[in-house]
Amino acid sequence: DDEIPWVLGTQLNEDAGPLGRVDGGKVLMVESHGFARRKPYHAQKLTLVFSAMRCFRDRLSDEGYDVVYRKGESFAEALGAFFDDYPDTTPVVMRSPSYGSADGLRDVAREAGGEVRVVENELFVSTREAFDSWADSTESDAFRHETFYRWMRRRSGVLMDGDEPEGGDWNYDDQNREYPPEGWGSPDEPSFEHGEIVDETADMVAEGFETWGKAVDASGFPWPVTREQALDALSVFVSERLGTFGSYQDAMVSDDWSVSHSLLGSSINLGLLHPVEVIEGIEETYREGDAPINSAEGAIRQILGWRDFMRHVYRHSMPELATANRLDAEHDLPELYWTGETDMECLRSTVEDVRERGYSHHIQRLMVLANFATLWGVVPEELNRWFHATYVDAYHWVTTPNVIEMGMYGSGVFATKPYVSSANYIDEMSDYCGSCPYHKTKDTGEDACPFNALYWDFLDRNEDELRSNHRMSLMYGHVDDKRGSGEMEDIHERVEELRRMEEDGVL
Ligand code: FAD
Repeated sequence: DDEIPWVLGTQLNEDAGPLGRVDGGKVLMVESHGFARRKPYHAQKLTLVFSAMRCFRDRLSDEGYDVVYRKGESFAEALGAFFDDYPDTTPVVMRSPSYGSADGLRDVAREAGGEVRVVENELFVSTREAFDSWADSTESDAFRHETFYRWMRRRSGVLMDGDEPEGGDWNYDDQNREYPPEGWGSPDEPSFEHGEIVDETADMVAEGFETWGKAVDASGFPWPVTREQALDALSVFVSERLGTFGSYQDAMVSDDWSVSHSLLGSSINLGLLHPVEVIEGIEETYREGDAPINSAEGAIRQILGWRDFMRHVYRHSMPELATANRLDAEHDLPELYWTGETDMECLRSTVEDVRERGYSHHIQRLMVLANFATLWGVVPEELNRWFHATYVDAYHWVTTPNVIEMGMYGSGVFATKPYVSSANYIDEMSDYCGSCPYHKTKDTGEDACPFNALYWDFLDRNEDELRSNHRMSLMYGHVDDKRGSGEMEDIHERVEELRRMEEDGVL
């Protein structure tokens, strides 16, 4: 049998996997539309994935590869046609990080009348084997991010000064929480000249799919679809934005959707950029004196640490993680996540960002969208489905640990406490509250910020799970006070009222 590389839509990288080991010859790519009909995906996400695949196809063809590009409703249908034409050929494909992908790919090939060979995914920094053997041998808890991150720093040598962390500390998290001064604007986001492929694909998406969010139009499309564009985005990040990334990493600014974030997630998750080259670009900028340590460490922690960590957490805790719900949350996701219609300025503004570009930055995801859903008591799987559909960088392997565990405290694999807050945190880290009709300091009464009553109600109703957590003890002191003073009853009433308002679409 002839073996040829099969490149999945999230593996658009010439140097990795089976494609990285050939120089010319046949390459298989399959554009399957069926998966894109399972959810109301953001129009820009579908346009991004299909355009990036088509650009990659053309690039390989220009370089002399013989690309067999098959479109079909399902993988099985497209592969069936492929095996009819090339009966003695075995596609070799990197596994996708999503659950059960190796078995799934083999089954689909068999159904289509052929075989595939599935090999390791090379688009992460660490391998499955390396993590698993370290996790088995280490005496510390491998499923604590900080432990994992230090292991990754030591073994990669990234931001190390001999055996010591660069600058003396492993983590400069306490220097990642500043708010930009009045009048500060983030450095310009990268912008791209997109060609015909994006236009044609956007038309196909508009005509053939039920989507959510703003479609790609003449006003521009902020996401790289080619390797060159992704490299431009990396260069804009390290040279223009990295300097302020560290200090303002947690800040939320209404009329500044990107603050100093890298905007590289979609490119890394599609394979257009390898995480190692992004880490190297950041470290080099720091070594040349062009970015401070709190920025370099902060950005590297996300990619070398969190991104790989999430993949291993997911591998080890699926399939249970997808439906985990240890706080027994039972509410549906409020409609306002889809409509953006709410008077709460933080949620309105964030949902608007997501509709506009399929993106909001990390703190909006964690402390606005996931925080509110957790306090409201949304079934974690429902919020996961929403994130998966609406973000340009979302895939099941990365949304599931981020949403269900980190955002909603759904399973207890690695989170040591829920990331929940009242209006206080949002006010400290954003400018939303200033233009919001709700009052950030009030718990109850008609114009009280919903986050406040929901926060106390959340702690009250989840006492059995949370009270014994020493990181929550201060907060339970306040819960006791509110119970003693009778305030807790007013809070429960306010929450009932908020639920009625949500049903009536007037929250
Ligand atoms: P930056 O803030 O500039 O960070 C740099 C890079 O670090 C990112 O591009 C990404 O590759 C990596 N990174 C940072 N944090 C994480 C993390 N927690 N997990 C994995 N990688 C990380 N990330 C996704 O890639 N897809 C998602 O669908 C996604 N959904 C999320 C949902 C919730 C509720 C939360 C709390 C986080 C989610 N994240 C997700 C992680 C993170 O928020 C995004 O990776 C980041 O906001 C992407 O924007 P950026 O490229 O500007 O990242």
